[in-house]
Amino acid sequence: MTEARPRQNLRIPGPTPCPPEVLEVMSWQMINHRGKEFAELIRRITGRLKMVFQTKGDVFVLTCSGTGSVESAVVNTLSPGDRVLAISNGFFGDRFTEVAKAYGAEVVPLPFPWGKGVDPEAVRNALRRDPGIIAVTMVHNETSTGVTNNLAAVGRVVKEFDKLFLVDAISSLGCIDVRTDDWGCDVLVTGSQKGFMVPPGLAMVCVNPKAWQAHAKAKMPRYYFDYTRAKNFLEASQTPWTPSVSVFYALDRALALLEEEGLANVFARHVRVAELTRREIKALGLSLLADGKDASNTVTAVNVPPGVDGGKLLQILRDEYQIVLAGGQGIQTGKIFRIGHLGYVDEVEIREVISSLRVVLPRLGFPVPAR
Ligand SMILES: *Cc1c(COP(=O)(O)O)cnc(C)c1O
Repeated sequence: MTEARPRQNLRIPGPTPCPPEVLEVMSWQMINHRGKEFAELIRRITGRLKMVFQTKGDVFVLTCSGTGSVESAVVNTLSPGDRVLAISNGFFGDRFTEVAKAYGAEVVPLPFPWGKGVDPEAVRNALRRDPGIIAVTMVHNETSTGVTNNLAAVGRVVKEFDKLFLVDAISSLGCIDVRTDDWGCDVLVTGSQKGFMVPPGLAMVCVNPKAWQAHAKAKMPRYYFDYTRAKNFLEASQTPWTPSVSVFYALDRALALLEEEGLANVFARHVRVAELTRREIKALGLSLLADGKDASNTVTAVNVPPGVDGGKLLQILRDEYQIVLAGGQGIQTGKIFRIGHLGYVDEVEIREVISSLRVVLPRLGFPVPAR
C-alpha cells in the first residue's frame, strides 16, 4: 500500500512519516525479549531517551499508544477521591481530564479557550483557592489547536505549591525543548508516532522522585501499566510484558538519528519549518487559530476561511495532490485544518503544501493574493 502511494505527503500531527532507515529495521527478524540482544537494545534506548527527556529520573518504554501513557501517569500516582487540577485548552487536555475522572479522581477543571495558551497566573489562583488539590495535569503541546503551553512557567507555579505535576508531552518531546527535571515535571509522557519519527506502538514515560513517593501511596487500580513492575523488569533489562519488538528496533534507530543531528539542531529545524509554515499560510491570506507566543512549532491550525468547505479542501489535496492534512477535533471540527510539521520533516514538504493550497483555494472560492 505504501508502494502504491510513494509520494504521499503525510502532514497530519501523527502518525508522521518515518525515515527509510527506521522503516528498514522494522522488517528485522524477532529476537528473544528475555535475551541478551534485547537487553542491549533496551539499555541503549533508555540511555538515549534520558538525554531527550533531559532527565536523571527513570524512563520506561511501554507498549501502547500515547493515551496508554497518560493513563499510566494517572493510575500510578493517584488514589480515587484525590483532588486534581485538570488544566485544559483543547481536545487532549480534555482527554487527560477524562482519564483522571474515569479512575475516580475528583477533578477540578481549569479550562482555557481553545487556541490560547494556559495562563500560569490562573493556575496559581486556582491552587491558592483550593489547598486540597494534590496534583495538576496539563498537555504541553495541544495538538488539537496548535498551541504550545508555557511548561516552564506552569511548572514553576506547581512547584511553588509543591503539587504533583503530570504532563502530556506527546506531540512536543523530541521536537521542542522539554526540560523534564528543570521544569518540575514529576511524570512526563510521550508517544512514538509523533516527533520521534517512529511508527505507532510505543509510549515513553519519565518518572521522577516526587512521582515515586506518590506511587508508593497511590491506590488506583492498575496492572499492565504498573511502574513498580516496569522498574523491576528494567533492572533486568526487560519489560514486564512482551514488548513491540519491531517498534523497539525503530525507536533505537530513530534515537541514533536524533543524536546524530543533535538535539539543538532538531529543535532549530522545527522552529525554522514552523516559522515558514506560519509565514506562508498568512501570505495566502489565511489566519491562524494560534499565533505569536502561543504558536506551536510542531503543528499549525489554520482557520477555514468563510465560504470555503474545509472537508472539500482536504479531499482535493488528498486526491489530486497526495497531500494529507488533518481536520479539526471536538468543537473545532469543520472550523480549522491542521498541518503537522514534526519529526521527519523539512521545508520542502511544507512548500509543497503551500503551493498546492495556492492552486486549490481559488477553486473553492477563496482568491489568494499574488506572490
Ligand atoms: C496524539 C496525542 C495523544 C494521543 O495519543 P494516541 O497515541 O492516539 O493514544 C495524546 N495527547 C496528545 C497531545 C497527542 O498529540
